[in-house]
Parts: sequence; C-alpha cells; structure tokens
Amino acid sequence: MTVSARLPSAVNATDAHPLLDELQRALAATSAPDVLPAAGLREARRAAAQARELGRDDDEALAESWACTHLSRMGRLAEVLEQAAPVVVRLPPALHERRRELLRHITLAASELGRFDLALDAAQELMGMAQSSGRPDDALAASFLLAACLERMGDSWQALRLLADAVAAYGVDRPSYPLLVATNAVCAICLGLAHRLRDTGDDTERTALLAQGCREGERALSLLHQVRGDTYDAAVPGNLGEVLLLQGHLAQAKPLLDHALGVARSRGLQAHQWRVGTSLADWHLAEGDAAAARMRALELIDQMGPEGPQQTVIRAHDSAYRSCRALDLLDEALHHLEQAERLERKRSTGQLRSQSQVFVTRSEADRAHADAARQRQRAAEFAAAAERDSLTGLGNRRHLERRCAELLAPAVGDAPPLVLAVLDIDHFKQVNDRYGHLMGDQVLVQVAHLLRENTRGSDVLARYGGEEFVIVLPGMTLAGAAEVCERLRERVHGFGWPLQMALSVSIGLAAAPPHDLTALLGAADRALYSAKSGGRNRIVAL
Ligand code: GH3
Ligand code: MG
Ligand code: MG
Repeated sequence: MTVSARLPSAVNATDAHPLLDELQRALAATSAPDVLPAAGLREARRAAAQARELGRDDDEALAESWACTHLSRMGRLAEVLEQAAPVVVRLPPALHERRRELLRHITLAASELGRFDLALDAAQELMGMAQSSGRPDDALAASFLLAACLERMGDSWQALRLLADAVAAYGVDRPSYPLLVATNAVCAICLGLAHRLRDTGDDTERTALLAQGCREGERALSLLHQVRGDTYDAAVPGNLGEVLLLQGHLAQAKPLLDHALGVARSRGLQAHQWRVGTSLADWHLAEGDAAAARMRALELIDQMGPEGPQQTVIRAHDSAYRSCRALDLLDEALHHLEQAERLERKRSTGQLRSQSQVFVTRSEADRAHADAARQRQRAAEFAAAAERDSLTGLGNRRHLERRCAELLAPAVGDAPPLVLAVLDIDHFKQVNDRYGHLMGDQVLVQVAHLLRENTRGSDVLARYGGEEFVIVLPGMTLAGAAEVCERLRERVHGFGWPLQMALSVSIGLAAAPPHDLTALLGAADRALYSAKSGGRNRIVAL
C-alpha cells in the first residue's frame, strides 16, 4: 500500500500531517547553508519522494533543484546537466533565486562538459532575467557565466571584453560577491591570454593585458576582505601572484603564491593547489633555480596524471620543458615540449569542434549588454532627478541626506574633517515684495550659480528651504571652510545684481564631529542665527 492511499483524500498546506512535517524538515535540512553535499543530496531526494507522495508538485521541483545544487557541489556534472533542465521548467515562477541557481549550474556544467549550446542558452536566459530584475549583481553574475562559457570555447578576447564592460558598467556601487567573482575572472582571462602570447612577439598587448590583470586582481584582493570568499580565498591571491610573476615582480609574487597554496591545501582545493604549484615552479625558474623548478614540475605532472585539469597539465609540461632546457637536459626537455604541444593541439581542436556546434552571434551578447546598460542609465537618471531641486538644479534635501550618510559614515577615530554651512539670503522677502516673485526666482538661480562657481566638485550643494542653502565641504577644516564661505559672501555682495538691488547672504558654519547631520544642521543654524542678529552679510563659525 502506498503512503498516499492511507492519507485523507485532500492534503493541503494546512494539514498538520506527519508526512508534511517530515517534508518540511527535509527541505530545511537540504537547504541549510552548512550542509555537506552528500547529506544535502540525501535530504533532497527524501524531500522529493515525500512531496511526490503528497502530490505537492512545487515542493517536489524545489527539492529536486536542491539535489542539483548538491550534485554540482560534488562535481557530478553529467548528472547535473541531465537533471537540472527539466527542473527549471517545473520550478514555480516565484522561486527566482532557485531558478538562477539552476541556470548557473547548467551553464558551468555544460561548458565544462563541452556542451556549449546548452551553456550559452542558460547563460542568455540569466542575462534576460538580469535585464528584467535590473539588479547590478544579477547582471554581473550573468556576464561572468557568459564570459566563462566563451572562454572555455576559446574565445578569450570576447570573454574579456564582455566581462570588463560588465565590471565597468555595474561594478562601481559597492563590494559584492558577484563583483569579486567577476574581477577575479577578468584577472584569470588576462592571465590565460598572457600565457598564450608569450614568445609570440605581441609584447605590447601582453604587457597591457598583464597590467589589466594586475589591476583587477588587486581589486579582487581588496574585495576579498569585504565579502565572503570561499574558493576565492585561494584563487584570488593565486591569480594575482601569477600576474606579478609574469610581470617579473618576483618578490611580490612569492608571498601571494605561498598564501594561496596554504589556503588551497587547508581547504582541500586540489585544482587550485596544482595551479599555484605550477606558478611556484615558474617562480623558481625565474629566480634562476632550474633544478628546483624541474623537481616541482615533475612532481605535479605525476600527481595530476593524464586526466588532470588540461590547462594546468599543459603549463606544468611547459615549465618542465623550460627548466630541463636550462639544465641542458635536452632529451627530457624535448619530451615535455612534445607533451605540451600535443595537449595544446588537443585543446584547441576540442574548442574548434565545439564552436562549430553552436552559432554564436556576438551581437546577441552585445545587445543584451547595451539594453542592460541603457536601463541602468535610465534608472540612474531617474534617481538623480529625484534628488535635484527643479528651480536651481542643485541637490534637494534627499540629496543632502544621502550624500551626508555616505560622507559621515566613517565616524571613527581618524575620520576626515568635514564642515557644514547653512547660507540664507538676507531680507529676501523684500526682493519678492519689491521686484516680484519671478525676479526672486532668478535671484535664487543666480545665487545657486555663484555657489557652484565658488566650491569644488566634491562639495555637496543643496537648496534646503526657500532661500536657504546647505554646503557640505568634505576634507575641510573650519578655518579653510570659513575662507571659502567668506569668498562666497563677497561674491554675492559684489555681484552686479539687476536694478541696483543690494543683496547679501549670512552664513553659519559647523564642523564635524559630531558626525551627525541633524546635529551639524542644528549647530550651523545657531551660527546663522547669530550672523543674522549680528547685522547680516557676515559669516559665523561655531
Ligand atoms: P532674513 O534676512 O531674516 O533671512 O529675512 P528674509 O526675508 O530672507 O527671511 P524670511 O524667512 O522672512 O523670508 C523668506 C522669503 O523667501 C519668504 C518667501 O516668500 C521667499 N521664498 C521662499 N521660497 C521662494 C521661491 O522659491 N521663490 C521666491 N521668489 N521666493 C521664495
Ligand atoms: Mg532670508
Ligand atoms: Mg530663511
């Protein structure tokens, strides 16, 4: 008798049935962040079976999606590829994150297994999802996957262009895991190209690629301090160390490579250990110790065997070849050269073959990118307009609040100095009364113009009230800011106003600390009040 036969006819979410409890438990267990892949897979299978018994299709698809995640973590890529595609179709539309994750697994597994048609389809779908979500992190993650796919297909230049564009377009806002992944990948692609270009005479391009790799590698390294790193704790210093080595900065490269090796060892990241190992062999060679380099390379070739990661095996043979040549072991050198050549030929033939299976339109990726960039541009314009004062074009209160939240955030010991000034036009009511409201508006626009002219681009300018402006001067001491404000006061007073209008402003200044907008505004307001009561057309700093 099946379980469902013993159940009441209609089982739904409100039924506190023991089987439902078990299903929920298994789903929680398989999706727990620290679950080991083997246990996670078991729980996912159990949950799927129970969901099937209960006729809960959505839960069944959810459980199966987790099974794919665990299979992917275990490196069982062929099974991922076979099982993930039907699950993507059945997954309830609301589960965006699960859907993204499955598409990620499909892209990586398919490109690893040379099924570039499937990989590109999944990556393009992720691009589409990123476009509709409008989230920079989604766009970066999708671009990374598409680039990883193109790179495996042998189209490294296109991969680099796509990813570097994505990093430039979306990576400016804040540190994030997708940005770490993307910057590290740019570094890795540059490295791959630099290896390819060695001894080809394209030195200028190679130098530029290494410089780009270095830049992005350093950026990835600094991101590593801010977001969780996982395998990137080994990959990032490993790649940057390799770049520095190729640039000839041997002393800087060594500690990074040693660190990467240590991390890879302690976390059992075998592929990373091998890759860093070949860099260390190259490092010995560059230091002039060909014997140590040869030992290391031979050891690695032995450990990896013929089924080892293709690119690293090729590099290890190449390293062995160059060390043997330096040691005058010519027969042995020839053997390694032949191995490296043979494997390289095999690799490029495989790539050519796989390319012929798919028709990649470069414009498709480009278009997705251009659309995303345009959408982002529109969003940015919209956000900027929401922070602008429509009369003067200066920032409004919202702008002031946002910028101050950024500027005042590092309110710790060595936070840079900052001054906030409140500027108020003297007897402005009389301008309106005598010359009309329109003239009043024109005066406000002209004052804003003088404000812009007499401050730096990094200063924050906002129209805070009717005829009241706030200026934030980051990095300025009270004395420096007082000079700026005094100049401003003079400009307004000395400006050739129409109809021989006599116009002046009073300014109150306050310096951080406290690093708090309300407190600074309060203090500057008190200073302004004392400027007004002291006779106007003056500045007061408290
Ligand atoms: P004080 O020297 O004490 O600052 O005197 P004041 O006349 O400048 O100050 P008060 O606050 O009495 O008047 C401010 C005036 O600013 C009143 C209001 O009509 C005018 N005002 C506020 N917003 C605008 C605007 O957008 N355009 C124009 N033309 N006038 C405005
Ligand atoms: Mg006024
Ligand atoms: Mg006022």
